[in-house]
Order: sequence, then structure tokens, then C-alpha cells
Amino acid sequence: MAYKEKECPKCGTKHTKRGLYCSRSCGNSRPMPEYQKQTMSEVKKEWAYNTDEGEESRWRINNYEEEEPPQPVRDMSVLESDQFVQDGDIWTKCD
Ligand SMILES: [Zn+2]
Repeated sequence: MAYKEKECPKCGTKHTKRGLYCSRSCGNSRPMPEYQKQTMSEVKKEWAYNTDEGEESRWRINNYEEEEPPQPVRDMSVLESDQFVQDGDIWTKCD
């Protein structure tokens, strides 16, 4: 499945990937002040090694191949009252 063509905000390459960026490396290299980067990685390390959620996330990173994770639906107001969001998809309740 192809997505609408867009320009990578990082390097300007035209692509039809799902995310904003043409490649994972472009997506990962968002500018961030050095001190913040350090704090983030320390916090992340703590989290990754001390929580179940972190364990799972580390597993996902290590097993990452091609697909982006599903994008969460940001605007909940688009949902009908019998719809809900799970795993990045909109589902309709059936009762
Ligand atoms: Zn790029």
C-alpha cells in the first residue's frame, strides 16, 4: 500500500512512506539540545531496564524491521459514540 507522496522534512527527499520522514535515520535525527539528549537517554535507560513496559519496548526496537507502529488517532471527536480506538484502528462496537 502506498501513501501520498510527501517531502522528508529532514533531507527533502520525496517519498511515499507512512511517516513524515523518508527513512528511520531521518526520523531519528530530530534536532535536540545536547543536555536534553543526555537526560532523555538516562531516563530512558532507567525506564527500559526497570519496567516491564521498557522491556517490551526494547524488544520491539531490537526486532524492528519495516513497518511503523500504528499511528494513534489524535482527534477523538471524529469518533461516533459507538466507536473506539484500539491498536491505532477505529473499531465499531457490536452489541
Ligand atoms: Zn530524509
